[in-house]
Amino acid sequence: MKVAIIGGGASGLMLGALISKLNINYDIFNSGKLGRKILASGNGRCNIANTNIDKKYYHDNKLLSKLLVNKDKVFNLFKELNIYTKEDGEGRLYPISESSLSVLNILLKNNKGNIIDLFVNNIKNKGDKYYVENYGPYDKIIICTGSYASFKNSFSYDYLKSLNVKFNDFKPSLVGFKVKENIKAISGVRCKCNVSLYSSDKLIHKESGEIIFKDDGISGICVMNLSSYYQHLDNQKSKIVIDLLDNKKYNTLESVINPKLLDYINKYNLDPNKIVLNIKSTYDFEFAQVCVGGIDINYINDNLSLKSDSNIYVMGEVIDCDGVCGGYNLFFAWLCSITVYEDLKNEISNK
Ligand SMILES: Cc1cc2nc3c(=O)[nH]c(=O)nc-3n(C[C@H](O)[C@H](O)[C@H](O)COP(=O)(O)OP(=O)(O)OC[C@H]3O[C@@H](n4cnc5c(N)ncnc54)[C@H](O)[C@@H]3O)c2cc1C
Repeated sequence: MKVAIIGGGASGLMLGALISKLNINYDIFNSGKLGRKILASGNGRCNIANTNIDKKYYHDNKLLSKLLVNKDKVFNLFKELNIYTKEDGEGRLYPISESSLSVLNILLKNNKGNIIDLFVNNIKNKGDKYYVENYGPYDKIIICTGSYASFKNSFSYDYLKSLNVKFNDFKPSLVGFKVKENIKAISGVRCKCNVSLYSSDKLIHKESGEIIFKDDGISGICVMNLSSYYQHLDNQKSKIVIDLLDNKKYNTLESVINPKLLDYINKYNLDPNKIVLNIKSTYDFEFAQVCVGGIDINYINDNLSLKSDSNIYVMGEVIDCDGVCGGYNLFFAWLCSITVYEDLKNEISNK
């Protein structure tokens, strides 16, 4: 069997490492730096998974619920590849080295296929074979080209047009918000608080953690998590409500709230339990960790092959499935790789 993997990121490299064990002949097509987002993940420390994996940390989805039967196989996979992990006390898993590069190096070491530096614009089907640009023939095509997240200029997904799938437009997620209020005076302030996302006065989601005020907006992990709920809303007329005091009572707030922030609260006569910031938009793709959108899950079988062509599989962020911060998105990439690997392994052993 000869396979073309399009995309040398987390899911593509993991699949390559797995099928190397099956002696499947494969090429990985990747434009740019291999595993770039693995390196960027977890601030260079690679938050590769979470011990609390559950479908509630992902948007949607019926596809994910089915894939999660393979959940334990992902954790076993780390052991098989000698990726030793440690947990940070809140479920987030990192390699013991706390270096994304060590994860990338292990994946590269286990890949035996050819790596071709090429941006793929064209996949062609002739009979039961496939061609990627001028390369081929291949028996199977695996598409794992990720999303626009963290790229400054969005690139083309035109090659998907020939595949008869529905593609839901990408929107930046796990990203901060630009707000309508003028908050320049508190730019740079960080504080621990509760933050809630409201849409048309309905509470959508609440998080606690550190937020960071910027010139024109807010950021921080809890804010980024709100963005993933925001991007799934139809009506995006939404606001963030910040609660600085968490129901605690103080005689004075001087030693409780950052002085710059307290000045701002006093100047505008705000309630520290309920500071409202109206959302203008999220920040752009280049600041996002993932995207909402991608290939619609209704066009994908449970083994991640396309309903329109069972020899073409899709994996990772190119699928319209996204999770919150905390290792859930890399976990999804690994989960896809193990699912496709199992399917290819079954096909080979049934021949
Ligand atoms: C700054 C940052 C921090 C992150 N931190 C975490 C974290 O701590 N934990 C976590 O779980 N997730 C994190 N993520 C998200 C995680 O990295 C991604 O969800 C994951 O890498 C997606 O894997 P993938 O295989 O789908 O795609 P990617 O890893 O994005 O790989 C896709 C590859 O395909 C290539 N490509 C695209 N189109 C083509 C084409 N037409 N032809 C050839 N090649 C193409 C791209 O250049 C890229 O190399 C982070 C993301 C970013 C940007």
